[in-house]
Amino acid sequence: MSSTASRTTAPVTTIRPAVVGKLNERQVLRLLQTRGQMSRAEVARESGLSAPTVSKAVASLLKAGLLEEAEAPELARGRPAPRLRLATSSAQVLGIAIDVGHCEVVSAGLDGVLHGETLKIPTPESYPELIATLSETVHKLMAKPGMTTLGCGVSLPGLVDFRKARGVLSPNVPMTDGHAPAVDLAAKLGIECMLLQESHALCLAERHYGLARGLENFAVVDVGAGVGLGLMVGGRLLKGHSGLAGEIGHMTAIANGGRRCGCGNFGCLETVASDSALAYHAGKKLNRAVNVDEVIELAKTGVVELSAELQEIAGYLAIGVAAVVNLFNPEVVFIHSPLLDIDPGLLARVVEGVGQRALPPSFTECRILRAEGSKCQGAVAGIIQHLTDAVAPEVV
Ligand SMILES: [Zn+2]
Repeated sequence: MSSTASRTTAPVTTIRPAVVGKLNERQVLRLLQTRGQMSRAEVARESGLSAPTVSKAVASLLKAGLLEEAEAPELARGRPAPRLRLATSSAQVLGIAIDVGHCEVVSAGLDGVLHGETLKIPTPESYPELIATLSETVHKLMAKPGMTTLGCGVSLPGLVDFRKARGVLSPNVPMTDGHAPAVDLAAKLGIECMLLQESHALCLAERHYGLARGLENFAVVDVGAGVGLGLMVGGRLLKGHSGLAGEIGHMTAIANGGRRCGCGNFGCLETVASDSALAYHAGKKLNRAVNVDEVIELAKTGVVELSAELQEIAGYLAIGVAAVVNLFNPEVVFIHSPLLDIDPGLLARVVEGVGQRALPPSFTECRILRAEGSKCQGAVAGIIQHLTDAVAPEVV
């Protein structure tokens, strides 16, 4: 064992080769993430790195399980050069979206492409049941022969303390308050798990795999049981001082009165511009409780006539989106909502309402589009980014 003296005399420069090595690995990963399959020679040519440097970086990434060698096409003569790609057949990541009515679990390759099957489970009543049911569901996806599961992203509604990876306040899934679902799942599953606030998950999904590729300034307004806001500002997620930014759903929309919100206040935006608001209206018409999943089906099938209520919801939603446009000057506001499945004309009515309320210069520069990404896809994007950062940090 080396002495204290030998440690203190170790020159700082001994760290540098490792740092440079990590930066090289990052560059190789980036190339394969943006360009798809490549041979080592192509990576060297495109990156400007030397062939030995590329070989070393690739060996390290193969060992970490982030890359794999793909079948090379047969050449007329000679041995084909093996092609490198992000691990898809040898390794996978998982994504979990915890939500009010049901939770979803997916698997994907390291390229972020989902494997197709989305496992849905009704959201259990208690936190221990939630963790038990989710780990049981995840185990089904981890049981693929020959497949290594590298990690799992977990999307959670409500306020998230990122430093402690803990739910702080979830007005719509309060059983998670004070708990750290990613830590508890990691203990049960034996894989790395990370927690994402659901609006941040939607931003990552849109930026990596949806319509926001290449955009630096955009917002995602998530209209579900509540109303959330994810903001990408200058290419970075806006988290605020304590990571609690974006709670637009608790902006007051009805100044005097209004219904009681899950946060304890009255008249919050999400009491009038959400799936919960529609469920409330449907419940009044049917004279029974209607949940957020059921109301979408009732409205889609026309079992309950809710078109006037949808118009009203679109009007309130426009108030929230106009505030986002005025405050943050985004290039695009994406709206993620199952309400848009009920009535395809709803988005146009929201856009019209925003046009009446937002300042014209900000509005004319901003597009309002339907989001393509999902919370599960965002959870997958989050864990891939986390694993990539762990192996090859972007900023050293
Ligand atoms: Zn509220």
